[in-house]
Amino acid sequence: MPHLKENHNKKTRDYNLLTERECKICNKTKPMSKFRRGYKTCRSCQYINNSSPTYRQKKEIKIKCITDGSISVYKNTMDLEKSNIISRSRFRNILKSKKNTFKSYKNKMEYLIISVL
Ligand SMILES: [Zn+2]
Repeated sequence: MPHLKENHNKKTRDYNLLTERECKICNKTKPMSKFRRGYKTCRSCQYINNSSPTYRQKKEIKIKCITDGSISVYKNTMDLEKSNIISRSRFRNILKSKKNTFKSYKNKMEYLIISVL
Protein backbone atom coordinates (compact mmCIF):
# COMPACT_ATOMS: atom_id res chain seq x y z
CA MET A 1 0.00 0.00 0.00
CA PRO A 2 2.22 2.79 -1.28
CA HIS A 3 -0.04 5.68 -0.21
CA LEU A 4 0.31 4.66 3.45
CA LYS A 5 4.07 4.65 3.20
CA GLU A 6 4.00 8.04 1.53
CA ASN A 7 1.70 9.38 4.21
CA HIS A 8 3.99 7.98 6.86
CA ASN A 9 7.03 9.61 5.25
CA LYS A 10 5.26 12.95 5.05
CA LYS A 11 4.30 12.73 8.72
CA THR A 12 7.89 11.93 9.65
CA ARG A 13 9.14 14.87 7.60
CA ASP A 14 6.64 17.25 9.21
CA TYR A 15 7.50 15.97 12.65
CA ASN A 16 11.20 16.43 12.04
CA LEU A 17 10.55 19.97 10.90
CA LEU A 18 9.02 20.62 14.29
CA THR A 19 11.82 19.04 16.24
CA GLU A 20 14.86 19.90 14.14
CA ARG A 21 16.08 23.00 12.45
CA GLU A 22 18.94 23.92 10.22
CA CYS A 23 21.24 26.52 11.70
CA LYS A 24 21.75 29.39 9.28
CA ILE A 25 25.37 29.86 10.37
CA CYS A 26 26.87 26.36 10.63
CA ASN A 27 24.23 24.84 8.29
CA LYS A 28 23.91 21.77 10.50
CA THR A 29 20.53 20.25 11.24
CA LYS A 30 20.18 20.12 14.99
CA PRO A 31 17.40 19.28 17.44
CA MET A 32 15.22 22.22 18.49
CA SER A 33 16.69 22.01 21.99
CA LYS A 34 19.90 23.43 20.51
CA PHE A 35 18.07 26.60 19.51
CA ARG A 36 16.66 29.41 21.54
CA ARG A 37 12.98 29.85 20.91
CA GLY A 38 12.38 31.72 17.69
CA TYR A 39 16.03 31.77 16.63
CA LYS A 40 17.45 30.34 13.41
CA THR A 41 20.98 30.24 14.79
CA CYS A 42 21.95 27.39 17.10
CA ARG A 43 23.11 28.17 20.63
CA SER A 44 26.75 27.35 20.00
CA CYS A 45 26.93 29.63 16.93
CA GLN A 46 25.18 32.34 18.89
CA TYR A 47 27.64 31.97 21.72
CA ILE A 48 30.60 32.37 19.35
CA ASN A 49 28.90 35.36 17.71
CA ASN A 50 28.30 37.10 20.99
CA SER A 51 31.64 36.46 22.59
CA SER A 52 33.47 39.37 21.01
CA PRO A 53 36.13 40.87 23.32
CA THR A 54 33.65 43.53 24.40
CA TYR A 55 31.17 41.04 25.83
CA ARG A 56 33.49 38.35 27.08
CA GLN A 57 34.15 38.20 30.79
CA LYS A 58 37.24 40.26 31.51
CA LYS A 59 40.11 38.62 33.40
CA GLU A 60 42.37 41.60 33.87
CA ILE A 61 41.98 45.31 33.26
CA LYS A 62 45.09 47.46 33.51
CA ILE A 63 44.53 51.17 33.76
CA LYS A 64 46.93 54.06 34.13
CA CYS A 65 45.87 57.27 35.76
CA ILE A 66 47.25 59.99 33.49
CA THR A 67 46.73 62.65 36.15
CA ASP A 68 48.92 61.08 38.83
CA GLY A 69 50.78 58.40 36.84
CA SER A 70 49.67 55.46 38.94
CA ILE A 71 48.82 52.12 37.38
CA SER A 72 46.04 49.92 38.72
CA VAL A 73 45.00 46.40 37.85
CA TYR A 74 41.42 45.23 38.23
CA LYS A 75 40.13 41.69 38.01
CA ASN A 76 37.06 42.59 35.98
CA THR A 77 34.55 45.37 35.32
CA MET A 78 32.83 44.64 38.63
CA ASP A 79 36.09 45.23 40.46
CA LEU A 80 36.62 48.39 38.41
CA GLU A 81 33.19 49.72 39.29
CA LYS A 82 33.87 49.12 42.98
CA SER A 83 36.99 51.28 42.71
CA ASN A 84 34.69 54.25 42.08
CA ILE A 85 36.45 55.35 38.91
CA ILE A 86 33.94 54.37 36.27
CA SER A 87 30.72 52.40 36.00
CA ARG A 88 30.68 49.05 34.21
CA SER A 89 28.28 50.24 31.54
CA ARG A 90 30.30 53.35 30.72
CA PHE A 91 33.50 51.32 30.62
CA ARG A 92 31.85 48.84 28.24
CA ASN A 93 30.78 51.69 25.99
CA ILE A 94 34.28 53.11 25.93
CA LEU A 95 35.68 49.71 24.92
CA LYS A 96 33.06 49.42 22.20
CA SER A 97 33.93 52.85 20.85
CA LYS A 98 37.61 51.74 20.65
CA LYS A 99 38.76 54.72 22.67
CA ASN A 100 41.51 54.06 25.19
CA THR A 101 41.22 57.10 27.41
CA PHE A 102 38.43 58.41 29.57
CA LYS A 103 37.83 60.95 32.26
CA SER A 104 36.31 59.78 35.50
CA TYR A 105 33.10 61.59 36.38
CA LYS A 106 33.67 60.56 39.96
CA ASN A 107 37.16 61.83 40.75
CA LYS A 108 37.74 64.03 37.65
CA MET A 109 41.02 62.28 36.80
CA GLU A 110 42.08 61.18 33.31
CA TYR A 111 42.73 57.51 32.65
CA LEU A 112 44.41 55.46 29.97
CA ILE A 113 43.30 51.89 29.39
CA ILE A 114 46.57 49.97 29.00
CA SER A 115 45.16 46.51 28.43
CA VAL A 116 41.99 44.50 28.80
CA LEU A 117 42.34 40.74 28.82
ZN1 LIG B 1 25.05 26.65 14.24
